[in-house]
Amino acid sequence: MKLLDTSAIIRSDLNFSEGIYFVTPRVLCEILDENIKLIINSAIRKGLIKIAEPKEDSTREVKDAAAKTGDIKTLSDTDIEILAAALEKNLTVVTDDYGIQNVAGKLNLNYESMVQEGIKQKIRWVNACEGCGKKYPAEFTGVCEICGSRVIRRSGNKF
Ligand SMILES: [Zn+2]
Repeated sequence: MKLLDTSAIIRSDLNFSEGIYFVTPRVLCEILDENIKLIINSAIRKGLIKIAEPKEDSTREVKDAAAKTGDIKTLSDTDIEILAAALEKNLTVVTDDYGIQNVAGKLNLNYESMVQEGIKQKIRWVNACEGCGKKYPAEFTGVCEICGSRVIRRSGNKF
């Protein structure tokens, strides 16, 4: 099972149908793009992405480890939350953040960068009807001409 940091969600082209991904509450808050939010929230509703909220103990353990490696100053609260959640549930952290990787190593956690995983850095967006799924060109605005539902931008992946 894998835990995604914010950049891993925003920059990648993940196949959530595998059902192996976790995020933390702070990561969700950091996603500002409305379309990405729609995709993530939909995957959460379907149980394909799970939310992991770490407890105090693991958070403290991560801070101790980060103090030892010297990364504590550069890690955000979100980074610490990610590491603590990974520690609790023994998740592989997907991140390109060197500080997170460093502390993950100190905690004997697995991590992988998006480059290693071969994830494409660019999301393939398509416009598609929310109701019937009909695809529309990127410049299309308005409602679906078949079923009248909203046409939204979504990732090219099925999930
Ligand atoms: Zn439609």
